[in-house]
Amino acid sequence: MSLVQGRTYLAIPGPSVTPEPVMRAMARAGANIYEGELIDLTNGLLPDLREVAQTKHHVAMYICNGHGAWEAALANTLSPGDLVLVPATGRFAHGWAEMAEALSIEIEVIDFGLRAPWDLDVIEERLRADTEGRIKAILAVHVDTSTSIRNDVPALRAVMNAAGHDALLMADCIASLGCDRFEMDAWGVDVLVAGSQKGLMVPPGMGFVWFNDKAKAHRPERVSSYWDWGPRHEPQWYYQYFGGTAPTHHLYGLRAALDLMMEEGMVHIWRRHEVLAQAIWAACDTWGQGGSFEMNVADPKHRSHAVTSLRLEAPYGTKLREWCERQAGVTLGIGLGMVEPDDPARHGFFRFGHMGHVNAHMVMGLLGSVEAGLTAIGVPFTPGGVAKAAEVLGSADLGVS
Ligand SMILES: *Cc1c(COP(=O)(O)O)cnc(C)c1O
Repeated sequence: MSLVQGRTYLAIPGPSVTPEPVMRAMARAGANIYEGELIDLTNGLLPDLREVAQTKHHVAMYICNGHGAWEAALANTLSPGDLVLVPATGRFAHGWAEMAEALSIEIEVIDFGLRAPWDLDVIEERLRADTEGRIKAILAVHVDTSTSIRNDVPALRAVMNAAGHDALLMADCIASLGCDRFEMDAWGVDVLVAGSQKGLMVPPGMGFVWFNDKAKAHRPERVSSYWDWGPRHEPQWYYQYFGGTAPTHHLYGLRAALDLMMEEGMVHIWRRHEVLAQAIWAACDTWGQGGSFEMNVADPKHRSHAVTSLRLEAPYGTKLREWCERQAGVTLGIGLGMVEPDDPARHGFFRFGHMGHVNAHMVMGLLGSVEAGLTAIGVPFTPGGVAKAAEVLGSADLGVS
């Protein structure tokens, strides 16, 4: 006997929930990749992709996941022996750095731990010490999906400017684009990477790199032809967009997702994620009074609006995930990068994904299920989180300034 029959909610931090218009758009017969509808549809994606990233500059599309977009950003701007600075606040910064290292790029990681954002004074000091300009790029993860820390990208640009440093600012927005406010041009970001399966609401399979002319001018002597963004952003032939066969069904799905986003508008999308996140935090604050339930990031200013990393005692995190999935039809994310993979303490960590196609009733369903699950697994916590979340949603100012 289980309570699980009914519509499920994949509340993990990617892949996110696929909207029905996106699924419907993808459920179709094969498309002609030589002429007709798909060509026009693809051309029409570019202005909307620029709007999502708040940029007037270039965008290249790839058939890949976020790791592919990482590699594309590195391959088009850096050469073996170049040095990159990587301020890390979780697993994904280390992952991008390891990929750079595997491409023979020299890496310098400044690790700020798992519970606090970048310390910009430390970064500024390092940049000022680089009098020879050895650092060619900063690999900056905006929201680290493992810890749910949100870093201050415009403030990083400000310290780069203050230090008079000319490195490229490259941002990983795989978890944040289409969720947290991000303004590529206004914030002085040179390269931005994202994947299709988080805020963009399309199944995994496409990666995107936005870049400006400064980044374009960094072109190394050799770029692998698959990752080369040159032909992809100014293609002579349709297939050059993708370095081969187009991801036909993903393109239809992406069109439907961008239609939803353009209709809602970026400012409203950001505000929706903010209000929903505040409701989640209010519930978590309540549950955490006098128990072991705790959000990983203490200061709301530094929390993502798309993912929340949580801590319980082991094994209660895993028990809670199991109860929520088996009894309530809500799948929570596993903890990632908080302890070594073979450490039994990993069973304390878990995450809520609240990115993309998520609304108030889904969040209330998530929180109600979690509160029921906390009761079911018998871990000490303070009830009443769901009521607090309802209060936040009911009293939120939904006029967007
Ligand atoms: C999901 C994610 C990645 C990796 O993306 P994949 O599609 O799994 O390769 C990288 N960085 C961040 C911040 C992410 O959230």
